Formats: sequence, structure tokens, C-alpha cells
Amino acid sequence: MGNDGGSIPKRRELLRINESEAQVNRSKLSVKLDSWYYCSISEEPLRYSEGTIVSDYRGRLYNKESVLKHLISKNKDLPHLKSLKDLVELRFCFKDGKISCPINKDIILDLDGKNDIPAFVYLVPCGCVVSGKIAKEITKLKSKPILCPVCNQPFEHTNVIPINPSNTTDLESRMARLRREGLSHNLSRRHKKSRPHEGSGEPDTPKKRVMKAEKDAKLICLS
Ligand SMILES: [Zn+2]
Repeated sequence: MGNDGGSIPKRRELLRINESEAQVNRSKLSVKLDSWYYCSISEEPLRYSEGTIVSDYRGRLYNKESVLKHLISKNKDLPHLKSLKDLVELRFCFKDGKISCPINKDIILDLDGKNDIPAFVYLVPCGCVVSGKIAKEITKLKSKPILCPVCNQPFEHTNVIPINPSNTTDLESRMARLRREGLSHNLSRRHKKSRPHEGSGEPDTPKKRVMKAEKDAKLICLS
């Protein structure tokens, strides 16, 4: 009885350890997955199917609508998001209802959330999303300019943005360099100085920004 009594708790303990490890792993994956499923501003589900996902220079994902609300509200929580120039609209490709790399057909994101997520990136300025492996191969090429394998727009190897990266040191350096050059994340030139209260109907008002954003919205790539 003593032996049995002693062995059972040990097994339970082991089970508990295994359970907690599994839980830890699950929660790590869950955090990682969350950044793919939920808008980093509103925490609402990301609306991939509507093609309205944007990203900042740190590779975070947002519903465009939520960012527009943020810009209009002039909320200072995210000081790096002051204008649509601080964002790039992403162009995802879908295959069988899953987001996939248009070049190597790797499934990037299973919308059912079953899988771990391989590294992938988007290119600036075009916003095309491809597998990280593909981007690595392309940027190794010596040809100049480097062309986006999806839309053929030229891009520089420094403008390959990992999505939801674990480390943003390189991205911070890139942004600091762009700022020094007077450029925004989307590579358009920053305004010198705007006159916010002149009331002249200049296109820098939030409403105008929203209208411009809608006008500039691009269709998602559906395959
Ligand atoms: Zn492209």
C-alpha cells in the first residue's frame, strides 16, 4: 500500500510537469499566433479576407480601419504611427483559404491556427508578402535592382521587413536611417513642417488622410 501510495503521486507529479510544459509551449505559440490573428491596436481579429491589413516598420499587423481611427483620434499611445506614411498595406496571397507564399506555395498562415508559423516577410514599398526563405534567396542575387518576385517593383535588401519578428533591433536601425534621410517607413518623403491650424483645407487633415488611404487601397492578391 505504501509503495502504491508513493508511486501514484509521483506519476501525477510527472503528469503535472508534462502538462505545464505543454501549457507553456502552447502559451508561447499562442502569443506568437495572437500577433497573427489580432490587430496590434484594437485587439480585434485581423481581417485578412478583406485585404485591409497594414504593417508598421516593426512588422506588426493592424486592421487598416483601426489604424485610421487611431490617426483620427490623435491618440499618442503609438507615437510611431502618425500618418499613413508610417504604414505599408500588405498584399497577401491565398490558397485553399490559407495565406500562402505566392512563389514557393508554402503555407504562411493556416487561418485555423493549427500550425506554427514559418518566418515570412513583406517588401517595401510594394507590400507583397512572401516566405522569408524566398526573400533570402532573392536578396542574395547580385542583380540590380532587385525586383519583387510577385509584382516586379524594385526594392532594396534593407527594405525587407520580417512580420512579427522576435527581435526588432535591425528594424529600429533601418527606421533611424530612413528618418535621417527624411523618409518614412513606406519610403515616401516626410513633410517638412505642416501648419495644423491654418484651416486651409490642406490634405493633412485626418479626414483627408482617410480619403487618401481609401483611394490608395490596393486589392489583395487572390489565387
Ligand atoms: Zn511586390
